[in-house]
Amino acid sequence: MKFNFSLTSKIFIVLLLLLSSCYGPPNLVSVKQEIINYYENGGYADEMNSVVESAKSELSGIKFNKNTTIVFDVDETVLSNFEVMKNDDFCYDKEEWDNWISEVRCKAVPHMLSLYKFVLAKKGKIVFLTGRRDTQQEATAINLRAEGFLNYDTLITRNPDEYDLTALKYKSKVRQELEKKGYQIQATIGDQQSDLEGIYNGKVQIKIPNYIYKVD
Ligand SMILES: [Mg+2]
Repeated sequence: MKFNFSLTSKIFIVLLLLLSSCYGPPNLVSVKQEIINYYENGGYADEMNSVVESAKSELSGIKFNKNTTIVFDVDETVLSNFEVMKNDDFCYDKEEWDNWISEVRCKAVPHMLSLYKFVLAKKGKIVFLTGRRDTQQEATAINLRAEGFLNYDTLITRNPDEYDLTALKYKSKVRQELEKKGYQIQATIGDQQSDLEGIYNGKVQIKIPNYIYKVD
């Protein structure tokens, strides 16, 4: 049997062979540097710009009334912890993290203030629902205010009996309690799947990119 390959096919086969000879994951140091560059050199802000623009068009499909509620997560959704994570070489250090939060040093996630203002103009309710603890409530409120998130209905943090719940269970539980009080949740916005899944998560879910960590 004789095979006749075109020049394009030959080039493709050579490329395939070259690629198959490079195996194994990339070096961890290179990956960290790539992520730092992405966050610091405009890639992340550009991506956030298009995420926010498409979020606005999705939220435009919602009919707002005074009980219409949009639930925003806080960390890596409206407030960024990139700086502390970078300083800790992307290792989670609870003490460092807690200090960072109490020092109120988070900056707003790029373009999220614009999305927040877009929702605010619709005159529904904005709820910030965070996995942060009740002991961090005041610092979180101060940080939100400092970054321009001035008007909202409620900022909800974990009570002691919720400390051990998974993020998914905790957020579902809180959203159920909100619905019982008359809030009508139409959208959930967050950087983790646990912000978006579960009960009473609304018609629209908006995923904010997070290249630093995952929470179950
Ligand atoms: Mg988050």
